[in-house]
Amino acid sequence: MLQPEYEAMPRAELQALQDERLEALVRRVYQAVGFYRKQLDSAGVGADPIRGSKELARLPFTMKSDLRDNYPFGMLATDRDRLARVHASSGTTGTPVVAAYTRSDLDVFAEVMARGLAAAGGRAGSILHNAYGYGLFTGGLGFHAGAERLGMTVLPMSTGATDRQVKFIMDLRPVGLACTPSYALTLAQEIQRRGVAPDDISLEFALVGAEPWTETMRAEIERLLGARCLNVYGLSEIIGPGVAFECAEGRQGSHINEDHFLPEIVDPESGESLPEGSEGVLVITTLTKQALPLLRYWTGDVASLTSEPCACGRTFVRMSPVRGRTDDMLIVRGVNLYPTQIEEALGKVPELTPSFEIVLSRDGVLDVLTLHVEVSEDFYRMIGQRALSDEVIESHERLRELKARAIRVLRDSVGLHAEVVFLAPGEAPRSEGGKLSRVKDLREVR
Ligand SMILES: [Zn+2]
Repeated sequence: MLQPEYEAMPRAELQALQDERLEALVRRVYQAVGFYRKQLDSAGVGADPIRGSKELARLPFTMKSDLRDNYPFGMLATDRDRLARVHASSGTTGTPVVAAYTRSDLDVFAEVMARGLAAAGGRAGSILHNAYGYGLFTGGLGFHAGAERLGMTVLPMSTGATDRQVKFIMDLRPVGLACTPSYALTLAQEIQRRGVAPDDISLEFALVGAEPWTETMRAEIERLLGARCLNVYGLSEIIGPGVAFECAEGRQGSHINEDHFLPEIVDPESGESLPEGSEGVLVITTLTKQALPLLRYWTGDVASLTSEPCACGRTFVRMSPVRGRTDDMLIVRGVNLYPTQIEEALGKVPELTPSFEIVLSRDGVLDVLTLHVEVSEDFYRMIGQRALSDEVIESHERLRELKARAIRVLRDSVGLHAEVVFLAPGEAPRSEGGKLSRVKDLREVR
């Protein structure tokens, strides 16, 4: 544990620290941010600070649209010239969201990332192969600073050029890999394709995040790389990666860095706070951020919290794996569906892999869900590497049985009938390092 004085702080003490920081935060944003002064006035809180986290529900939520409406610097709580760095979201769905940091914010960012890397098995002197994108995206530089803080040797690969990535993993013998889960799978499959056994790969851990993923993906990455695969959670609005991280001992949810980020789970419809263990939208208040502090930020991620003791000894609450951001949710024939539910279901069919694409189309007024999924390398060899056309599947008993079983498992798991199309290894869309979209929705195109 990098900082047991915080990471394993007794909960009563931690709560007192959170309360003190929260009260100071409310006072500060009321003074410094016009947006919040208005919000707090209309919520009836005003300049009178709230008393600790038990009064958190009196504070207004902050939505992503608030950040967009105040683009680029309208919500700063410091002078513009005190900013040390600015990151931004890709802005593919509208105005980009700007994340701004003072020098001390960057210190916190490095610290929480270093905690996560240490929890995964990173240590001074060992190599981190960092295949997160460098640039405006917070992943690359966030991991970079965290690894340096821990005293690791950083290889700043960034994304893409998969051949070269594999070469460096084989030649430089890194202990850790950092990238999106979909890219970890791409790298693992490429290494497998070259016939390298997991025992011959130096990696001890992969620390992955920035997209929702499941135990199915974890099992496949761990099997191919022979390394433990752990989650890191974050979002640029809050700080970037490092809001929460999984520990090697527990592997049951990610510890939230609660001395910096105060989490709640709320009902997505009513906004009411929900008790521990309930699933709802994760809402985070930044307790220590200087440049862009946020009150009750609505992450849109669906998760639950637990404060059950963890095997690692950390006292920070753990958040469940994120099933998906509320805007990733698909509605198919009236049923809510997250792509991660498909990924999870595929874990029950050993002949199939987590490399897939969901295609949604329409037949008359009816939605049609078609799953294009790669069969495993072993299974593909076993059936003689034949083309996976409908005729072949119909005439081949094992393939016919596999298809019927896949359809059954999907229906039982997600409550929907899916058409299933088999792909040979390597045929599904691959991550090139960034976030991978695994949904093609053709329904709007009439
Ligand atoms: Zn733990």
